[in-house]
Amino acid sequence: MPSKKVHVREYTVKAHERVIHTRLYKFICKQCNKDVERETYGPRPLYCEQCRPRITHSTKVAKNKKKPRPVLVKQQKRRVG
Ligand SMILES: [Zn+2]
Repeated sequence: MPSKKVHVREYTVKAHERVIHTRLYKFICKQCNKDVERETYGPRPLYCEQCRPRITHSTKVAKNKKKPRPVLVKQQKRRVG
């Protein structure tokens, strides 16, 4: 297969809507090692429906805690003399 290098310029993509389709993946679950099928929008899943970690609302709320901001403290160099 012939190939060549092409230069791709930087560009930004405006917000838009697009239709995405699900794909049916056949894979082996990382957790239970079963031969399973799963339909998903995203990339190839690792876990079957039973083993996949479920995202609950309670965990999302807990993440909203404010983190203390790191404060930059300039240390003055002491001259030893
Ligand atoms: Zn599984």
